[in-house]
Amino acid sequence: MAKRLSVLGSTGSIGVNTLQVVEMLGDEIDIRYLSANKNGDLLIKQARTYRPKAVAVVDPATARSVDKALAGEGISVLTGREGLLELASRTDVDLLLNGLVGSAGMEPTLLAVKAGIDVALSNKESLVMAGELIVRAQDETGASLMPVDSEHSAIWQCLAGEKKEDVRRIILTGSGGPFRTRKAETFSEITVTEALRHPNWNMGKKITIDSATMMNKGLEVIEAHWLFQLTPDRIDIVVHPQSIIHSAVEFKDGSVKAQMGVPDMKIPIQYALTYPRHVESEWERLDLIELGRLTFEAPDRERFPAIGLAYEALRKGGSAPAVLNVANEQAVYRFINNEILFTDIPKIIQAAGEQHEWIEHPELEDLIQLEDWTKAFVKLYN
Ligand code: MG
Repeated sequence: MAKRLSVLGSTGSIGVNTLQVVEMLGDEIDIRYLSANKNGDLLIKQARTYRPKAVAVVDPATARSVDKALAGEGISVLTGREGLLELASRTDVDLLLNGLVGSAGMEPTLLAVKAGIDVALSNKESLVMAGELIVRAQDETGASLMPVDSEHSAIWQCLAGEKKEDVRRIILTGSGGPFRTRKAETFSEITVTEALRHPNWNMGKKITIDSATMMNKGLEVIEAHWLFQLTPDRIDIVVHPQSIIHSAVEFKDGSVKAQMGVPDMKIPIQYALTYPRHVESEWERLDLIELGRLTFEAPDRERFPAIGLAYEALRKGGSAPAVLNVANEQAVYRFINNEILFTDIPKIIQAAGEQHEWIEHPELEDLIQLEDWTKAFVKLYN
């Protein structure tokens, strides 16, 4: 029987890749629900191709035009944030893929897990902000998280058949982004165009800037902590500019398992959809001989202070990672709008972390309030 799938953020980078995987897998996947924010034209096209039961459109004006276009086609249109949240909690699916960007993805993940639905998780911000709540909900309902983030998919694959207590540490690899070799003195002159030019991965804007500051790797450390239940001292970062080894696990006996592949998000997406199988695909193959060599180096925590900020927030725990996450995304949007410098991003995150009222075990309402506080804080920062 086909796996019934809901795709949140279907018109974004992860969503579009997911639908390519679905297309390739043929009858194995049945698209039940799709969601988008403002890209109505693409959503309408996707809806006509995959015939979901319903779509959710967050932006009200876009929702009206989608509703009009799909009238009489038997596809219902849910509107606004409420529509998205309603769609996320529907239980007539086997798997929900969360490809939303940023903190907007947190509540949908939590609702799906609470409803007992397995989540293929691309939205790492969900775990960064609400890791404790999501894990608690998983304990209650038994829902699983299938990592889509390439590093976490790699670790998940390396851990297959292994015992958790045999793991010494995990090694998250990162490309180092576009400024890996750029001189520290020129970081304040970095332009938006330069920061959006990622050497290996073709991704959405927010995550591309996160890769340039290396906050992406910091967020992934926190994501790994919740996914694999490891303390921060057991999670390391290694810069690997070719992005071929997607991450590795070191075991207690000194054995290290790494997972490799070409940098293409369709591969980890497919694994999350077909887990525990690796089924035939048509994606580009890895050619080690053509590659010739792989290189590794330590991350530079001085030029990339975001890494240290993320570890610090994880060690502090409670509400600290949530504030780090929201401050980061708001600062990134201000940078994209040319309102602040590239080097202001970590400064803003640090200031927000220091000034917020820390909560040890934040509930959902606390997180929503903290999100509002942090957004206001970043807006006023000069
Ligand atoms: Mg990643």
